[in-house]
Amino acid sequence: MSYRAPVADIAFTLKHSAGLSQALGEGLYGDLTEADVDAVLEEAGKFASTVIAPLNTVGDKHGTPLKDGKVTMPPGWKEAYTAWVQGGWNGLAASADWGGQGLPHALNAACIEMWNSASMAFGIGPVLTMGAIEALDRHGADALKAKYLEKLTTGEWMGTMQLTEPQAGSDVGALRARADRAADGSYRITGSKIFITYGEHDLTDNIIHFVLARLPDAPPGTKGISLFLVPKFFVSDDGAIGERNDARCHSVEHKLGIHGSPTCTMVYGDNGGATGWLVGEENRGLNCMFTMMNNARLAVGLQGVAIAERATQHAMAYANDRKQGRAGGNGAIVNHPDVRRMLLTMRALTGAARAICYATGAAIDRSHLAKDDAARKAADQRASLLTPIAKAFSTDVGTEVASLGVQVHGGMGFIEETGAAQHYRDARIAQIYEGTNGIQSIDLVTRKIPMMGGAVMKDYLDELRRTVAAVKQANDPAFGATGIRLSDAVDSLDRATAWLLGNLDKSPDAALAGATPYLRLFASAAGGCALAEDALAASRLNGGADGGRVALARFFAENIAVQAGGLETTVTEGADSVSPIALPAA
Ligand SMILES: Cc1cc2nc3c(=O)[nH]c(=O)nc-3n(C[C@H](O)[C@H](O)[C@H](O)COP(=O)(O)OP(=O)(O)OC[C@H]3O[C@@H](n4cnc5c(N)ncnc54)[C@H](O)[C@@H]3O)c2cc1C
Repeated sequence: MSYRAPVADIAFTLKHSAGLSQALGEGLYGDLTEADVDAVLEEAGKFASTVIAPLNTVGDKHGTPLKDGKVTMPPGWKEAYTAWVQGGWNGLAASADWGGQGLPHALNAACIEMWNSASMAFGIGPVLTMGAIEALDRHGADALKAKYLEKLTTGEWMGTMQLTEPQAGSDVGALRARADRAADGSYRITGSKIFITYGEHDLTDNIIHFVLARLPDAPPGTKGISLFLVPKFFVSDDGAIGERNDARCHSVEHKLGIHGSPTCTMVYGDNGGATGWLVGEENRGLNCMFTMMNNARLAVGLQGVAIAERATQHAMAYANDRKQGRAGGNGAIVNHPDVRRMLLTMRALTGAARAICYATGAAIDRSHLAKDDAARKAADQRASLLTPIAKAFSTDVGTEVASLGVQVHGGMGFIEETGAAQHYRDARIAQIYEGTNGIQSIDLVTRKIPMMGGAVMKDYLDELRRTVAAVKQANDPAFGATGIRLSDAVDSLDRATAWLLGNLDKSPDAALAGATPYLRLFASAAGGCALAEDALAASRLNGGADGGRVALARFFAENIAVQAGGLETTVTEGADSVSPIALPAA
């Protein structure tokens, strides 16, 4: 089954719970109008559905073979990528100074969802290029920007992000790739990197690698890491492509999913060292990489939303068609309450994850564009708080929803030709790359909720409480127990937060043991409130014809947000049971 971009749903969430309409009204985005936003979404949806989506199974089947150091991308991918670049999609949110369109990050987030619903393997390449653009724009020297930024912005060249080495995965500080200073101010890079997405391919004439490496006199750990721009081919001052740099792809991984995305082992320095140029300052590379990583973390969260959306569409179509048992209506399995429960769970989780991701994108916009310093800082802190939720919750949702999608298909879900199995295989990586979801939970608990002594989190809790109050005030029977269930969930989040803040220093292991259930608890309250916000807006705007949004918010509150109480108990009382695990005797 092909993909139909849910443009109306996307636009609604963007404008309401993510606050785009309000931001447009405030003039945050200059003279941009809702009609402009709708037009961009419509065109992106068309491109994703008609040009990229048909290539998804092609990529899965063909993979990205490596021969004589060259990776060949699946048939049709280069043409699709070229058309995508010509459409200006790569630079949608990038600065107009470098050929971008300077449109909202929140709008770009919605488009990233659509590219990745159409094909996650296709969508992940540009995600890394977009991160590279931001890091170079923010931290690069003028000469580097002048040479590389425009071609990266348009997508004529793609970028990579290179941290991982065999001994340095989650622990980036353990990396060993080496950078030696050269007399001309450049550096010679030696060493190797593993698992590099789009490290080699034939979509573009040049690939600009962003590589983390260590100077010989660097301090140990994360304080001794520097970031280097290492082009595959050298570029002369007039922009012409020259000789090959001393960097090559050694091998391409065979993976569970996203077969159309080449995952490469890269080798630097077969012939004395690849030439690289410093981005930012020496030993401050992780700082620059964080610019890329925050951007990429939201984008990977959007991959979770994207795959969940596609799996849901797929399952809905099958459930309306497949007849089995004594189901009501036309006899299709969609009429069985248990199948309906699965489909509603899929829709509710997808909607909640979407709303959280778009709200993160909107906070990023405000952090750049708000009128005063205080508002910019508050928005930056909101984006920081939400980024680990956007990444980890949404990618957990991607896998859970894709798994339910297989279940709705019964035995056919396990058979490749149906396509449901590919969503499940593709979804799984997003929980791992860009910082595993375990690492995201730790980031949330140890760095994000303690921001400003807990004040950032308190503001957020106050906002959730305002939504709960609005639901209660609406006094609409269609909401069922939504108000009370969300109120309980927010109370659980409040108490679990206070417990963690009180225990972080006293018993850090106990706090860390609760990090993953806490992140889920956070998302249950936040996602439930976001769906309720959209539901309230829908019933307000359309005089009661809410397009099913009230029912969806109610389903989430009464079936998913209710898990918050159990998660709170796990966080506050479960730590002792996370005891050291004894290995079985040999
Ligand atoms: C398909 C694919 C594409 C990738 N693309 C890129 C890329 O483009 N660029 C790049 O640099 N990297 C890339 N990666 C690497 C990816 O980011 C890492 O695999 C990931 O960060 C995890 O590192 P690891 O595999 O070494 O796992 P490990 O760090 O060994 O983790 C194993 C497990 O231990 C847990 N763990 C580790 N440390 C801690 C801790 N301190 N506290 C609690 N739990 C912990 C983890 O959460 C995980 O569950 C890619 C990987 C894959 C598979």
